[in-house]
Amino acid sequence: MQWLNGLDNWLGSLAFRLRGELPPEPHVVMVTVDRPSEDHLRPLPWSEAVWAEALRRINGARPSAIALDVPEWDEVLAAPQSGLMTDLAQVLRDSPIVLSLAVVEGEGERREVMEVLGGVALEAGGLPQLPLEQMHLSVAPVELLREARGIGCISIYPDLDGVVRSVPLLVNYKNSVFPSLALEALRVGQKLPARSANWAGTGVAMGEARIPTLSTGEMLVNYAGGYRCYPQVPFYSVLEMSGEELKERFGDKYVLIGPVHGETAVFLRTPTAARLPGLEVQANALGNLLRGDYLRPMPALVWLVIVLALCLLTGIAVTGRNIGVAALITAILAVVVWIALFALFRHGIWTSWSGALLGVLLTGATLLARQAGISDQDKVQAELRLQSRLGAIAGIGKLIDSSLDRQQLLDQTMHWVEDELDVEACSLLLLDEKTNRLRFEVALGPKGDQAKDFTLEIGEGIVGLVAKSGEPIIINNARQDPRKNQDIARAIDYQLEKVLCVPMTLHGKVIGVIEAMNKRHNADFTLHDASLLTVIAQQASMFLENARLYGVLQDRVDYANAELLAAMRELRAQKARIETLVEEMVDGVMSVDGTGKIVLVNSVARRMLGLQGREVEGERLEVVVAQPQIAALFSLPLSQEAPSVSEEVRLGGEDGQVVRVTVAMIEGAAGEQAGKCAVLTDVTHFKQLDQMKTDLVSFVSHELKTPLTSIGLYGHMLKEKLKEQKIDEAQDMAAAIDRQMIRMKHMVEDFLNVSRIEQGRPLDMLWHEITNVRGFVEEVVNIEARASRDHEISLDMPLQLPSLWADRGKVEEVFINLVNNAIKYSPDGGLISIRAEQQGDMMQFSVADMGLGISEEERGRLFQRFARAQADQRRISGTGLGLFVCKALIEAHGGRIWLESTPGKGSTFYFTVPVYRGQDKETRANADAGKA
Ligand code: ADP
Repeated sequence: MQWLNGLDNWLGSLAFRLRGELPPEPHVVMVTVDRPSEDHLRPLPWSEAVWAEALRRINGARPSAIALDVPEWDEVLAAPQSGLMTDLAQVLRDSPIVLSLAVVEGEGERREVMEVLGGVALEAGGLPQLPLEQMHLSVAPVELLREARGIGCISIYPDLDGVVRSVPLLVNYKNSVFPSLALEALRVGQKLPARSANWAGTGVAMGEARIPTLSTGEMLVNYAGGYRCYPQVPFYSVLEMSGEELKERFGDKYVLIGPVHGETAVFLRTPTAARLPGLEVQANALGNLLRGDYLRPMPALVWLVIVLALCLLTGIAVTGRNIGVAALITAILAVVVWIALFALFRHGIWTSWSGALLGVLLTGATLLARQAGISDQDKVQAELRLQSRLGAIAGIGKLIDSSLDRQQLLDQTMHWVEDELDVEACSLLLLDEKTNRLRFEVALGPKGDQAKDFTLEIGEGIVGLVAKSGEPIIINNARQDPRKNQDIARAIDYQLEKVLCVPMTLHGKVIGVIEAMNKRHNADFTLHDASLLTVIAQQASMFLENARLYGVLQDRVDYANAELLAAMRELRAQKARIETLVEEMVDGVMSVDGTGKIVLVNSVARRMLGLQGREVEGERLEVVVAQPQIAALFSLPLSQEAPSVSEEVRLGGEDGQVVRVTVAMIEGAAGEQAGKCAVLTDVTHFKQLDQMKTDLVSFVSHELKTPLTSIGLYGHMLKEKLKEQKIDEAQDMAAAIDRQMIRMKHMVEDFLNVSRIEQGRPLDMLWHEITNVRGFVEEVVNIEARASRDHEISLDMPLQLPSLWADRGKVEEVFINLVNNAIKYSPDGGLISIRAEQQGDMMQFSVADMGLGISEEERGRLFQRFARAQADQRRISGTGLGLFVCKALIEAHGGRIWLESTPGKGSTFYFTVPVYRGQDKETRANADAGKA
């Protein structure tokens, strides 16, 4: 509490300084035992005579009272002239003198002193013990005390801060109560009897005067001014003054005699001046008593009430304000209180400065702190609410993102409403556009499920009214409200107390309503709730719209997806078909994309271009394809006017495959060129065919020319021989002509047969029984054998062979062809052996040579039209038709023709012809039967 005391002292001192000085009391005069007096009268102690003389002189001027503050009584007693004490006593007896009871070191004659004091002291008692108790008393000699009119105690001590604010009016010492020097001087001056001063609990009563004190009996000194504000008379000058001067100085005055400086002087701090001698403090106190400038301490109870009232006032003024305003109010109140206290002080009322101010400040500060706490709490709560709302919004946002499940979304939203508004029940109704009625989508709360069965007209009930007006409604006393729907309320038996209902709008149109019912803890719905619910309703509307749009979008996407899938499937199937088609094509196919990279190559094209087993898709065409003509063809510009180019390309060397490459443009969706496609058609065969046909023409003209020339020659010779009558020779000529004719006939026969076979017409068969098969073969072979001298023809067959059933001419032609070939394709000559053996119903003939032979791959196709072995084509003339015709002729007989060959060693051709089994009779019989 010391700091509080310090603050109080400081504020008090401040008040003194602000108030300024009071005028000093003119009736108080100080006689100062100062240095000039010491110089005049020799150093202290002076003799009793000096004291007696001075007192006598002052007393002669008729002062009101003389207060002697001489703490150095010991020194006075110790003087050699102590015998003169009686003189001094005599003076005291006649004068209104008050002697001081001072504080000094040493025990003194305490008992005796106390006895004396007992005679003069007050006996009111009951004063609190004062610090004087701890001090030693210094008193005047007993003789002097007995003679003096009064005994006053000098007890001046500073507060803890070293400032003197109060002096005791009464001092309680060892069960005796002493008045202060000033009080005693006043009593003497007013000629009141001894023991007139009495302790009255809150002050001292003396004669008419009521002097207020602290509970400790101290008088608050209302300081008049600074140092030397009272008139001062040096002690020595008293001895020198004339009677007139003394009268003027001291008449009717209160004379205080005491030290002002030197070793004996006590300087004290006061609120109004830095330092005052003890004598001046006494003068101030005496001045206060004389003028009634009392400082009255405020009664503790009043002070308490005022402080409490101030606290209350501060509380009222500050509560509910924001922190800045509250702090300002508190500060203003503190200043006002201080001004009020100052005003009271100026009217002599003294109170605890710090108590009242602290009361105000502490109350203000406490409330401020609380306010700050509350606002912090509010902030935290607001933050939490905000967090919760943001969380919920984010949650719903996520929900929309994740599911867009309409029902889930609405349920979630309404649970949010339930939590955020802290309501018992809430519902969301949507307007059914078909029926134009409001239908419950979500109904939470105790009777929610039952409410769901109802639908509402627009304008019906609170919900219907909100849907109609598009404005929110708050009803905090719904029980009596006529707007609520009685039917539903009755049907579901739900006590509706409070309701908040807001519309859900979309593009300015009401699409539904959200209704919150019965706030918990019986709280009312506020405008804040309404705006919050409006925001929620708007969001819900948007969510619904989003969900609807999403649904529509989803449907479209699903539809498009299905379409796309079907198209994809179709495309895939088509692609697969095309791929198969392309793959199975006899022609090569290759395509490139717009950048010239290969997209597709079928196996035929791979084989043609030698790309088997290579991964070429994605490669550039010119890098992959070895034939520069093909790459050049691909590089030619194509347009819609000239969408394709075509060229024949020989793939291998001179004898290689020839393909017709046709490159065409692939059009993109926008008509642009998306790539190129090439079809490679193998035209080697046609080329060969062309060649063959050319060969055939030259062969036929050559072959026919030879017999015709022979015939011409033989004809001419025949004519000559006939002229010369050389019949034998003429016969030979005729036979030669005949042979050439036969040969021509065979040739023509071959051509005719070929054309017949080509046209698919059956061959005319002249079936005969050919007897003497060996003779028949011999005859045919001999004709051919004559054509070559390099070859030896051997007929290796039994003499007796069964007859054949065949068309003689045709079998002849087969023999002629085979023997002719055997000769032709054995350019180095050699043996040609012809064999025949019966095999069941068939006769198998063979013609073997030792010629060129035929490679295995060529064997199969030799029976085809115009087919010729590669090696022979240039060197040996031929048509490639002989074996084709032979095959047709043999097959017309129901026989078979084939060959065996070893290249370089020779070939053997086999064929079979039916053996005669009496077929002619059957045939004739059949023919007859047919005719019949
Ligand atoms: P042509 O002999 O007029 O070319 P063919 O139909 O008789 O026509 O024969 C077809 C081909 O069969 C001949 O071009 C020849 O290459 C081959 N050939 C036929 N007979 C023989 C044979 N005995 N030895 C080798 N090659 C033969």
